[in-house]
Amino acid sequence: MRGTTKAVVRLSGRTAVITGASRGIGLGIARVFASAGLNVMITGRHREPLLRAQSSMRNLSGEVEIAVADVTNFSEMHAVATQTVRQFGGIDILCVNAGIYPRAPLQSVTSDELHEMFSTNMYGTVYATQACLPALEMSPCGRLVVISSITGTLSGYPQLTPYAASKAAQVGFVRSAAVELAPKGITVNAVLPGTIRESASVAAGSPANDRLLSAIPAGRFGSPEDIGHAALFLASPDADFITGQLLVVDGGQTLPEVPGGF
Ligand code: NDP
Repeated sequence: MRGTTKAVVRLSGRTAVITGASRGIGLGIARVFASAGLNVMITGRHREPLLRAQSSMRNLSGEVEIAVADVTNFSEMHAVATQTVRQFGGIDILCVNAGIYPRAPLQSVTSDELHEMFSTNMYGTVYATQACLPALEMSPCGRLVVISSITGTLSGYPQLTPYAASKAAQVGFVRSAAVELAPKGITVNAVLPGTIRESASVAAGSPANDRLLSAIPAGRFGSPEDIGHAALFLASPDADFITGQLLVVDGGQTLPEVPGGF
């Protein structure tokens, strides 16, 4: 896997908890971390997809374990932290990735939908952090990496308004938690992904897909591993003096002054 050689040497044997890692970006982060020799605890609400994800990583150098847990439930997140410490001896890195992004016109969003959005994307960020914090404080290099988004922090997207608000809330969390946790030796940073696809062939050739693709100067969608490499850097000793920062990983999607080019 590209870009991991130095990190392999310096991160090997450390332990990461990654929420929402049975598929998508979380699974990509887990693959990159396990390739770098980290012990990885992957979480999600459903056992079967977690088992499939674990089995897909069995040949990587780090050990991968699973924990079934809902990030909206503090007790379940506390159990994840306890299980991780029992199985791996501690937690050095928490990667808060679990998130949902249902689309709906602003006018029709219900209070139940709003509640689910903020419970998962925002409360889930806080619960996962609170649950893992005692173990992170014991680590010589505690790291918290939050997977936010360009949506709501740098750009807007129709029918994703509550989602955008929840992702912006994560950035506020990152900046304040970075200040609060710095004296404990824990860095707190965010990765802001652009449009990420698990497979480059997803909906290839559809007009919607082509329109999205034309908005990315790099000429391709991001992969889950692109986010994994960014998260690995922020989790590494090389990023020891970086805290409260936002790392945009979007192939230039948020840069053009004139959409579609000049
Ligand atoms: P996916 O829907 O592909 O995967 C989400 C993962 O989170 C699954 O493993 C899912 O497993 C888990 N999950 C969902 N809800 C919960 C919950 N309440 N408790 C625990 N686990 C949960 O999402 P993506 O990979 O696309 O997105 C991951 C993160 O990246 C999100 O925070 C999203 O906002 C962010 N992001 C994604 C972008 C993209 O283009 N895909 C762009 C920018 C940001 P299960 O359902 O079994 O619980």
